[in-house]
Amino acid sequence: MTQIDYTRTAKYFLLQDFAKGMKLGLKYFFGSKATVNYPHEKGPLSARFRGEHALRRYPSGEERCIACKLCEAVCPAQAITIDAEPREDGSRRTTRYDIDMTKCIYCGFCQEACPVDAIVEGPNFEYSTETREELYYDKEKLLANGDRWEAEIARNLELDAPYR
Ligand code: SF4
Ligand code: SF4
Repeated sequence: MTQIDYTRTAKYFLLQDFAKGMKLGLKYFFGSKATVNYPHEKGPLSARFRGEHALRRYPSGEERCIACKLCEAVCPAQAITIDAEPREDGSRRTTRYDIDMTKCIYCGFCQEACPVDAIVEGPNFEYSTETREELYYDKEKLLANGDRWEAEIARNLELDAPYR
């Protein structure tokens, strides 16, 4: 003869599981949110965040990069291509500075290798594209990134300086 499980039957009729579920739902509904309403809200970023690359200038507007090619040599993904020529004043500058962002693994080695803080990984992470071609960055694009993000980049480098 089949035994009746009275405890289980009572739970069923008293909607105990339903009440437990409601309690849990209400707890998270009124509690602090674990998610943000992106893109209207954004989470905090570390000063060491490695986002989209940028080439920086000095306040005078002169390019920082001295075409030493250390970044090109250290890049494990071989994503950087540099050509250089001396200028009339004898200074050495790049004539070509390309980064294939589809190869980049965001290791930050290029930034670490640069003796003049010219190539950096800035705070921008919103640069998705619809084509691969748009991710082949040239010098013009990288310098434009530097001009756009200079304030944030300079602040992040300053914050990180005591730990270097
Ligand atoms: S972050 Fe790393 S992989 Fe990307 S360009 Fe710099 S060195 Fe190369
Ligand atoms: S970005 Fe920095 S490491 Fe790369 S070539 Fe220019 S000066 Fe050298």
